[in-house]
Amino acid sequence: MKTYKIAVIPGDGIGPEVTSSAVAVLKTAGSLEDIAFEFTECDAGGCAIDRYGEPLPASTLDVCRNSDAVLLGAVGGPEWDNVDPSLRPERALLGLRAGLGLYSNLRPALMFRELASASPLKNVESMDILIVRELTGGIYFGKHGVFESSESLPDGTVKGLTAYDTEEYSTAEITRILMEGFRYAQARRKKLTLVDKANVLESSRLWRKIANELAPSYPDVALDFLYVDNCSMQLINRPSTFDVIVTSNMFGDILSDEAGMITGSIGMLPSASLGAPGTPGMYEPVHGSAPDIAGTGKANPLATILSASMLLRWSLGETAASDRIEKAVRSALADGFRTSDIGGDISTEEMTRAVIERL
Ligand code: NAD
Repeated sequence: MKTYKIAVIPGDGIGPEVTSSAVAVLKTAGSLEDIAFEFTECDAGGCAIDRYGEPLPASTLDVCRNSDAVLLGAVGGPEWDNVDPSLRPERALLGLRAGLGLYSNLRPALMFRELASASPLKNVESMDILIVRELTGGIYFGKHGVFESSESLPDGTVKGLTAYDTEEYSTAEITRILMEGFRYAQARRKKLTLVDKANVLESSRLWRKIANELAPSYPDVALDFLYVDNCSMQLINRPSTFDVIVTSNMFGDILSDEAGMITGSIGMLPSASLGAPGTPGMYEPVHGSAPDIAGTGKANPLATILSASMLLRWSLGETAASDRIEKAVRSALADGFRTSDIGGDISTEEMTRAVIERL
């Protein structure tokens, strides 16, 4: 029997509730497919600040580096809103991404037919988009600063305190994420949309140039381009026509929330962050620590359970176990199981049990 090492970071708020659901589902799905797991729990986020004085202890990163994959709940909460910015719980996420070399963020926005009525859009019957977001470059990591400017606006007003953030992308960074986009499109419906702002941004023009150069190597994939402002409209107008979207860090951050919302609830959205082949990937729900419902048993565990399914598929290559989980989730939804975020009143534990019984 094959045994995989999984680092589990429950984190804060509802994080521990939803990760324990996903671990229970992984154990059962694994036993049905002759796979075993060795889970190592470690701290990151607010709970690590309380315990060790820092959001990402070196020991946590070590455990993650020596695992086959990482499953994370969520970090943060109002208790840590006023700590020093360099110690905020969210720093743990940046530290994990940098420490594990995770440069590609996969966010599927899949509408379950059974939940179509939960979508804020009318008449959307199907939607299955994979957003591939560059994760370690661009404006979030470019040069930034604040300075006092003595220059003036045309009307003579002195500019005063001025801040800047810089979007910078290299050929190497763009090429590796575009190649991922092409490969995912090949494995899906063979359509890749590069979203950029090439009408105004030099960096976007480099993305387009490289995409056009790579395209002949993926003759089975249809490549098209959309400006980000148009894409945000088309996601609302014709969501079912998209297959894979590849884009920069900031555009992906915004568009993946928009696409996710169309599917119904944030409690349903999984994600994966991946690095070079052979390095551990990190899997987590898109939602945060939901402090407003933490400890009430109301959290929807499906986003984390579906993240565990992605972990099996993308890091371990265990597609049968992954398919088993996805089918069980669909079946639980088809049988009417709903937590409060998707219009029902069952608890985290009842939803978890419903999925496990259908594996
Ligand atoms: P949130 O995603 O935690 O919650 C937003 C709303 O969605 C809340 O009403 C919450 O109850 C609901 N919700 C979220 N997940 C749910 C689930 N599984 N089931 C049912 N309802 C769910 O976002 P927020 O309130 O803006 O942030 C709360 C904290 O989480 C903040 O400290 C924030 O920094 C942190 N956060 C962490 C991550 C992460 O760890 N990756 C991501 C986003 C926010």
